[in-house]
Amino acid sequence: PYDVLVIGGGPAGSSAAIYAARKGIRTGIVAERFGGQVMDTLGIENFISVKHTEGPKLVASLEEHVKDYGIDVMNLQRAKRLEKKDLVEIELENGAVLKSKSVILSTGARWRNVNVPGEAEFKNKGVAYCPHCDGPLFEGKDVAVIGGGNSGVEAAIDLAGIVNHVTVIEFNPELKADAVLQERLNSLPNVTVVTNAQTTEITGTDKVNGISYMDRETEKQHHVELQGVFVQIGLVPNTDWLGDQIERTRFGEIVVDKHGATNIPGVFAAGDCTDSAYKQIIISMGSGATAALGAFDYLIRN
Ligand code: FAD
Repeated sequence: PYDVLVIGGGPAGSSAAIYAARKGIRTGIVAERFGGQVMDTLGIENFISVKHTEGPKLVASLEEHVKDYGIDVMNLQRAKRLEKKDLVEIELENGAVLKSKSVILSTGARWRNVNVPGEAEFKNKGVAYCPHCDGPLFEGKDVAVIGGGNSGVEAAIDLAGIVNHVTVIEFNPELKADAVLQERLNSLPNVTVVTNAQTTEITGTDKVNGISYMDRETEKQHHVELQGVFVQIGLVPNTDWLGDQIERTRFGEIVVDKHGATNIPGVFAAGDCTDSAYKQIIISMGSGATAALGAFDYLIRN
């Protein structure tokens, strides 16, 4: 059996595996797609100590670092079941069952898409999902934020300090964000809020040039010219396959303590699939390190 088996090969999983392997214990990684969300990222400018890099380039360095430690990397393999017996068993989609003394779950998350024409086409060409990451790229420009929940309104407030103008588009008749955030939003001079509006298309040529929405009351179509669209309608953790045995929040995020431990002894978790307050590369790597050290502590006590 493995000592530590990491499920997920993004920044959290890579960091966890390297920290574990450095203890001289048998470590493996199962990843549906090594690199995770970073593979879909163009420019990265907030990975501290690296002024600018690109997603696939960072993933290549992660892979090189992981391989340097002789970690078993099982790429293009999806875990579909976890069972705690004496050891923890992980069943893969291909039927194989892997056994390990401890497991670190780092299966990440995915942004919920609006699924309108133009979204996929203009991803990284004006369609963005992370204001902390991509906000500065739209300095002085006009943007829209789709979604008026807490994350959408926080994004709009954040962006209003950088861009020229922000249009917030909310599907429901009212914003869902906390009152204090709404007050802050309403106090900003360069924000327009449109409620009861269904986004119908993100338009553009080689990059985004506008957004179309339908007023749900009058059914009238509107078009706003702008250069960027931030989609903020939720982040979905990749945790469905775990069933009910592992404690999760109502959003499906795995609940972890400060050692990265879940409610099942020997099962740890890290990164975007957990209830961590913020979802970023550097934060995922930190929590991956925490979970590996937590798992090592568990192994020497059991
Ligand atoms: P992920 O990167 O999501 O990795 C999850 C891993 O688990 C993948 O290998 C996946 O294939 C695997 N997996 C999932 N389910 C299973 C399963 N059942 N079995 C096996 N493997 C599985 N953050 C920044 O700090 N700076 C940025 O500039 C930035 N830009 C971003 C741009 C975009 C377009 C996106 C989408 C995100 C961006 N982020 C950025 C956020 C950042 O990418 C994430 O916070 C980070 O990747 C989370 O790391 P993770 O390892 O927890 O999860």
